[in-house]
Order: sequence, then C-alpha cells, then structure tokens
Amino acid sequence: MKFSYISHLYCPKCSSTYDANIINQLCECGSPLLVTYDLPALAKNWKRSDLIGRRNDLWRYHELLPVQKEENVVSMGEGMTPLVAMKALGEHMGISQLYMKDEGIIPTGTFKARGAAVGISKAQELGIKELAMPTNGNAGAAWSLYASRSGIMSTIVMPVDAPKITRNECASSGANLYLVDGVISDAGKIVAQAVKDYNLFDVSTLKEPYRIEGKKTMGIEIVEQLQWEVPDVILYPTGGGVGLIGIYKALKELQALGWIEEKMPRLVAVQSEGCAPIVKAWEEQKTESEFWNDSETIAFGINVPKALGDFLVLNAVYETGGCAVSVNDTAVIEEQKQISQKEGAFICPEGAAAFLAARQLRNEGWIKENETVVVLNTGAGIKYPDTVDVNVPILNKHETITDRSNVTSF
Ligand SMILES: *Cc1c(COP(=O)(O)O)cnc(C)c1O
Ligand SMILES: [Zn+2]
Repeated sequence: MKFSYISHLYCPKCSSTYDANIINQLCECGSPLLVTYDLPALAKNWKRSDLIGRRNDLWRYHELLPVQKEENVVSMGEGMTPLVAMKALGEHMGISQLYMKDEGIIPTGTFKARGAAVGISKAQELGIKELAMPTNGNAGAAWSLYASRSGIMSTIVMPVDAPKITRNECASSGANLYLVDGVISDAGKIVAQAVKDYNLFDVSTLKEPYRIEGKKTMGIEIVEQLQWEVPDVILYPTGGGVGLIGIYKALKELQALGWIEEKMPRLVAVQSEGCAPIVKAWEEQKTESEFWNDSETIAFGINVPKALGDFLVLNAVYETGGCAVSVNDTAVIEEQKQISQKEGAFICPEGAAAFLAARQLRNEGWIKENETVVVLNTGAGIKYPDTVDVNVPILNKHETITDRSNVTSF
C-alpha cells in the first residue's frame, strides 16, 4: 500500500495535465489545478473497513490526500469534527434530520486548518521555504501557524477590518503581517506583486492545488459519520468556495471507489446579501460570476467579491441540483442567537448564515420536512467576539438581583 495514490494534476478548464512532483500554481490558461488520484488502483486496494482503528483526524484518508511521505505530514489533530444533531433547532425550522458539522472544534478555530494542514504538508514535501497569501483572517491565521510548525516562513496580507483575533494569531506565529485598507481582492493584488518581487510560493485560494484536498475531507467525514449514506442537502457558507468544490470532488472520488452510491447531496452555496456574486450568477444561470463591488458583510470569511474557482462552485451546484442563496446580516445575528439558545452552540456568523439559508429554503419548500440536512459551521463563534451586541445590566457590589426580565424562557 502506498501512503498516497496521487497521480498528477489536471486543469478542469482546458484539460492540460501537470506533474505533481514539482511546484505548480495555476494552469497556463489561468484556471486552478486539481489533483487526480489513481482511483482504479485505489479501488482495488482500499476498503471502507480499512479505516477502522485509524487515527481520528483527516489523515485517516491519507490514500486520498496528496502527501506522499508520512514524515512530511504537519498535523495538530485537525479533522473528524463532530456531526451534531440539532433537534431543537430542526424542530423550530421544520427539518426533522438537521445536523451541524462543527468545524469550530479544530486547531485555530476554523476549518481553514484542514486546508492549511494539507497545503503546508505538501509545501514541505515540495521543499518550499517561504509562502505568501491574502486572507480575510482565518486562512492567514491557520496557514501562518501551520507554516511555523513546519518551519516555513509566511507573508500575510489582510484587510484592516478583518477580525482582530486573526491578526493576533498571524503576528504571534511570527509571520510577516501587513494590513490593507481594502478588501481581500486588494490584499490579493499586493500579494501577487510580492510573489513576483521576492519569489514566494503563492498560496492564495486555489492558486495552489492542495488546500482544496484538505477541505474535501469534510465531505468524506460527513458520509463516514452517516454510515456511508449521503445526506439530501449540504449547505456551505461560500467565499472562495473551496469547501464546496472540495466536498463535491470528494464525493465523486468516493463514488469512483464504490464507497457510496450514485446519489449526490444537493449542494447549496450560501452568501451574504452584501456579497453575493455566486448567487447572482446562479440566478442568471451563468457559469461564472462577476466582481461584486463594495462588498460588505459581518460574515467576514465569505466576503469574496470574485472567486477564482467560481465556475467550479457553480458547476457543483448545477450538477447536484443544488442552489445558491443569500441571507441578510441582521437576520444572521438573530439566527446565531437562536442557535446558542436552542442548541448551546455559539457558532460563527458564516455558519449562522448557512443555518439561516436552511430555514429559508425550508420555508420555501425547497427542503422537505423529512430530508437529511447537513449545515457546515465553518468556525467558532469565539473568533468573532464583537459580532454579538450585548446589553447586560451592571450591578454595583452591594446590589441584589431584582429585575429578571433578562432571563430567556425556553
Ligand atoms: C474562509 C471561510 C469561509 C469560506 O470558505 P471558502 O472555502 O473560501 O468558501 C466560511 N467560513 C469561515 C469561518 C471562513 O473562515
Ligand atoms: Zn488550463
């Protein structure tokens, strides 16, 4: 048995192929590159039952990951996050089988750790010494910390408005950190220039082929946790869309291995009304999105005005009979509170956006009462301490509690 069955890289746009043993960024045609595995060989050698007793993180699927030598794995135990039944919230929404895939419980507090773990491991295998990336915060935090663990240097550029904790995480990791008075696409331009000027490895979303491989493991875990049944619907808060593209890719690979049946879940791309390029493209039944001007949302991780892999996100949505939905920020904060109060889970605004989209789609009848619905909560609420407006009474030391109007009734 080989540790990885990686075969080569291919371009989903022009079908060119590339050698996976050397450093690659985008295809010559400008498209992201994706990893191909030797699935026929893997199908013969690898059974679902081989997973029994393996380490309880995403490396349990190492055959379907790009790292060829185990010694190059850089890990802090990321993956195999809980699939939590949301009974009370599901009842409130009228969805009997509602689950949360909770990515808040992972190193660095967001699912960006999956992409960083696999991306950094592969970067180490390829001999990379220094990388650069633009970020809305969470990716920069995950990549700079995993880079530090592997001894790779990082240069990170993020919007000045990005959640402050992510700034601190990057700075603490020893990264070269810069803030820009703009959005992620502005940070991207600065990084692109620095990559040229200083010959850095560009790990911007989808400009290297391996981050997506880390994120695709969410899809494998979901079906493993559901005893190799696919759910009816998966909702995903979509910025660059890497997780959604990855989940789709993973399920296709599992089909090729014969581990799951033909049925695919309907994939739903969720965005904020303040930044909804994918939703607009889907509504117009287009295959690519247009740049969204003056984007703004509290769900910072999904503030991406134009995603490089938009055509792949849209393809996954069309191919699975899914849809794209936008939600309102004020309602997202309400949903976040609902989830805390009904389920005891303090989740990130991006995750709350995806739950709100599930509620909307149930109201419209697009989701049926008895369908199995999985919502990705992509991060912990505690990474956004300032998103929640609190209004609590302050007592002086000698006061007693007389007014209990603050108490929530369940
Ligand atoms: C980055 C991020 C997203 C969006 O992920 P993409 O793969 O870029 O679509 C969603 N939620 C959180 C918390 C994020 O950090
Ligand atoms: Zn190409």
